[in-house]
Amino acid sequence: MYCGQGVYSLPFLWYFFEEHCLAAFSRWPFDSGCSCILIRMVEAGFIHCPSENASDVVQCIICFKELEAWEPEDDPVEEHQKHPPNCEFLAL
Ligand SMILES: [Zn+2]
Repeated sequence: MYCGQGVYSLPFLWYFFEEHCLAAFSRWPFDSGCSCILIRMVEAGFIHCPSENASDVVQCIICFKELEAWEPEDDPVEEHQKHPPNCEFLAL
């Protein structure tokens, strides 16, 4: 049900992610061919929190930072790092 690299580098978080985050991304609008596919969003620590105004709002599970208006070529980890405050998740 998932593909992509890097998932297994976070085994202690993966079980949590698999249960809570992938389910939360079931309506994520970006698919293969994009940089911000759901598995990469999860790896960057995000869960999907769509609102009425924006279908692509995500929130970090650690710092609760919200990001939206994703472009297909956006890299979730880079976007996470660009927006302060520094997040504990990215230090893992
Ligand atoms: Zn964060």
